[in-house]
Amino acid sequence: MPSDTPPPKKRPRCPICGQASDPAHRPFCSDRCKQVDLGRWLKGDYAIPGPPLEEEDPEGQP
Ligand SMILES: [Zn+2]
Repeated sequence: MPSDTPPPKKRPRCPICGQASDPAHRPFCSDRCKQVDLGRWLKGDYAIPGPPLEEEDPEGQP
């Protein structure tokens, strides 16, 4: 019988800088990278799958 040994748990890496993530800030390695990731989201750097959405902001103009 094949002995199925579970693969060793890979420690997640920080998606920002690629270093080993810190449990306190996972999946990031530090709070800084966490903020960087958050900033990317806010700036829309991440490609969002699906059709482009046109956001209408009625109060966006001064
Ligand atoms: Zn990092």
